[in-house]
This record gives sequence, C-alpha cells and structure tokens, in this order.
Amino acid sequence: MGGSPNRIAVVGASLAGLRAAETLSQRAPDVEVIVIGAESHRPYDRPPLSKKLLAGEWEPDRILLRPTDSFDELDVEWRFGVAAARLELAASGTGGRLDLSDGSSLEADGIIIATGASPRRLPGQSKFGHVHVLRTLDDAMAIRAVVGRGGQRVVVIGAGFIGLEVASIARQLDNHVTVVEGAAAPLIRGLGEEMGAAIADVHLARGVDLRCGVQVESLTATGVQLAGEHLDADLVVVGIGVVPATQWLDDSGLEVRDGIVCDETLLAAPGVYAAGDVARWPNPLFGEEMRVEHWTNAAEQGALAANNLLDAASGETPAPYAPVPFFWSDQFDQRIQFVGRSNPDDDVVVAAGSVADGKLLALYGRDGNLHGAFGLNAPRWVMPMRKQLLDQVSLDDAVAFVATLG
Ligand code: FAD
Ligand code: NAP
Repeated sequence: MGGSPNRIAVVGASLAGLRAAETLSQRAPDVEVIVIGAESHRPYDRPPLSKKLLAGEWEPDRILLRPTDSFDELDVEWRFGVAAARLELAASGTGGRLDLSDGSSLEADGIIIATGASPRRLPGQSKFGHVHVLRTLDDAMAIRAVVGRGGQRVVVIGAGFIGLEVASIARQLDNHVTVVEGAAAPLIRGLGEEMGAAIADVHLARGVDLRCGVQVESLTATGVQLAGEHLDADLVVVGIGVVPATQWLDDSGLEVRDGIVCDETLLAAPGVYAAGDVARWPNPLFGEEMRVEHWTNAAEQGALAANNLLDAASGETPAPYAPVPFFWSDQFDQRIQFVGRSNPDDDVVVAAGSVADGKLLALYGRDGNLHGAFGLNAPRWVMPMRKQLLDQVSLDDAVAFVATLG
C-alpha cells in the first residue's frame, strides 16, 4: 500500500465490522475510519435473537455489542441505514470507490467488507405476513410477538441452527411446534447424520414434532403444504440457510464464489479485505478453503483483517488466518459445541459419554486424522480438543487422549 492509508471504509456494521473498526481506531488513530451499515441499529449480537431475546428474557438494549458510550468514544464515523450499492476497485493503488444507497460516493484506500449473509427464502414467501425469516433484531421481535403468546401453531422449515433454536424456544413457551426438514436428520451439514440423529432425539423427547426427509410443496395463506398433508400454522419460520451478501459486488471485479474469495490473510484485492460470514479463504491448518457462518470466526476475522490491512500498508508481513473453527448452539437445556470441521463422510467415534448419560463427546476423523469434536453438554471434554486439532493428532491418539480426561 505504501505508507499509512488516509481513509479506510468498513462495509457492514455488525460483529466483524465492529471488530474491524475497533482495531483500526485503536491501532491507527490518525486514519479516517468510516463504517457503512445497512441496518439502522447500532451493532448488536445475533446469537440471542434465537435464544434469550426470543424467549422474552432479554430486551433489545441488552444485546448491543457495546454500551452506547463506547460507540461514541470510538473515533469512527458511523453511517447507519446506508448500504454500499457498488464497488469500483482502484485502477492503480489500493482500495476503491464505494457508491452508497443514499446516492453519495466514497473513495477509500483501504476497504474491509463485512456484509455477512442474508437468509434464503422460499418462492412466494413475501406474500404472507405470517411467514418469517430470522436474521435481524426486527425479524426476532416479529417472531417473538407470536411465540410469546403461547398456544400458537408454529411450523419451522429447516432443521438447521435457526430452525432448532426457534423450535426450542417456541416449545418452551408452550406452542405446538412442527419442524420440517428435507434431509434425513437435523444439522447434517454441521454434525453429520449420527450426531444429527442424537439432536433429533433431544427435540422429539421435548414434544417437538420433528419430521425429517419431508419436502415442502408450497407456502399457503394458512400454513404449509407438504405432499399429501397441510400443516395449519399461525406462524411459519423459514430457516433454510443463508447466502453471502455479495450481490452488490457483482461487477466489482472481485472473485465471488459462495463468498468473497480471499487469500490466507483475508486479502481479496489490493487494500481490500473481507471478514466474517461473507469471507471465503484457504485455512492453512486444515488445508482447505472454507467459509464459516459462526460468531467466533466473524469476531476474529474482523480484527485480523484490520490488522493485516495496516500491516500490509506499513510493509509488515500480514498474518494468515489459521483457526480451529468453533461454534455453539443452545437448544432446550442442552449445550452443543463443536471445534474443527465435519464432513458427511467423516468417521465418527463416540469417545466419551452417551446420549443416555446426557453428556457426550464425539470425534470426527478423516484419513485417520482428527478433524473435529462435537460435545453435548460436555465443555470440559470439548475445549481441550482445540489443542489436539492445532497439534494435528491422529484420530486414535485423540481417542486415547480423551480417555485421560476423566
Ligand atoms: P452479519 O452479522 O450478517 O452482519 C453483516 C451486516 O452487514 C448486517 O448488519 C447487514 O445489514 C450489513 N450489510 C449487508 N450488506 C450491506 C451493504 N451492501 N452495505 C452495508 N451494510 C451491509 N453463531 C454462533 O457461533 N453461535 C450462535 O449461537 C449463533 N447464533 C445465531 C443466531 C442467529 C439468530 C443468527 C442470525 C446467527 C447466529 N450465529 C451464531 C451466527 C453469527 O451471529 C454470525 O456468524 C455473525 O453474526 C456473522 O457476523 P458478520 O459481521 O460477518 O455478519
Ligand atoms: P443452516 O444451519 O444452513 O440450516 C438450514 C437447514 O435447512 C439445513 O438443514 C438444510 O438442509 C435445510 N433446508 C434447506 N432447504 C430446505 C427446504 N426447502 N425445506 C426444508 N429444509 C431445508 O441455516 P439456518 O439454520 O437457516 O441458519 C442461518 C444462519 O444463521 C447460518 O449461517 C447459521 O450458521 C447461523 N446460525 C448459527 C447459529 C449457531 O451457530 N448456534 C444459530 C442460529 C443461526 P440441507 O443442508 O440438506 O440443505
């Protein structure tokens, strides 16, 4: 980049964008930092949207990612309620020009893209007021207004993270809950079929009508049409995955392939970095390209993208992002945790505990090597596996290690 940048634009004012802005403001107080956020809210945390906030235990002010004062103390210009509509990369030098939805433009010699992801929708969904997705605070409040009444007929489409977390809360609030999933078990993509089936048992035992291997034919004015059966619903929540928010980059010249394609340091183009749900990068620790849709990844990548942008500008070597991915999910009284990666054809070994014990650790292996670890109510077993993954141990050695944990 040749010296310190004058102006850095961060696009996306959520977790990754906030972490980037904080890092820039702390490390480079002389650089002008502008954060552009499509939502009108200050950065807030999404995990509670499908947990404590949805349950009515927390109010919206509790989920702000920082207290109001600390936003104001950061030497950053926040532009909320404005979206980036187009990026033109600099013909020479770094960064580029952003055209914004309010008609203005912005030149920046450094850009961090943290636009996250948007929910997939079903055909015709926008016609129906009782059909919702869950991504934003406004979505969560709309769903809460119905599930909070209790006694409602709730149909959830998709047994992924959103579907199962919404089902848990809706059921705990005494609603009738049906979950419809096309695959053979819930969370197959994240956990594989065997552990997905264990999660299915958690829901079935608590009164959720969970139906796997079932296709939705259409949404209707009164519910959901399946092959040969209509499910009447007061509320339908569609949780069928997300797509990275990259549409606005279509003619930018950046490589976009299910996310913004970056190098190991999260660099997408000279002076342009990506972070969070929207970023796809080769993880050197796993030797594979990945895009991760979880909290820890967004937080870490936001800070790293900012550090790397500043390092590259000052001639220092930017750091690769080589993490052990991690996520958690709370469903009923169960805490799910996963470190590493899982693939549908991984070998899965239950290394400690069992579903019946209410506590288990399963290890995931590929070609004899440890690739991931799943814990059900077992944080003391899961967390030490991060070091095992960093040390790239074999599956057998990992099983032997677990036996020492007690
Ligand atoms: P996002 O949080 O998606 O934020 C992107 C921001 O960019 C948004 O505010 C968006 O409006 C804005 N934006 C988009 N396009 C533009 C544009 N063109 N111009 C300007 N702004 C734009 N993860 C876990 O590990 N554990 C959990 O328990 C968990 N629970 C979750 C519960 C819910 C309901 C949801 C939705 C997600 C959950 N996650 C969880 C995932 C985690 O919240 C995400 O991985 C994380 O929010 C990603 O952060 P991000 O900053 O990359 O993107
Ligand atoms: P997801 O976890 O990708 O799950 C989507 C589920 O819907 C998958 O099981 C998918 O099956 C299924 N599906 C897809 N199309 C379908 C259809 N037409 N009918 C029925 N089922 C269908 O996505 P999500 O649950 O919507 O979550 C959205 C985002 O929020 C993700 O990024 C997720 O990581 C994040 N989130 C994370 C957490 C957490 O980490 N605890 C909690 C909430 C949300 P196939 O795989 O077979 O397509």
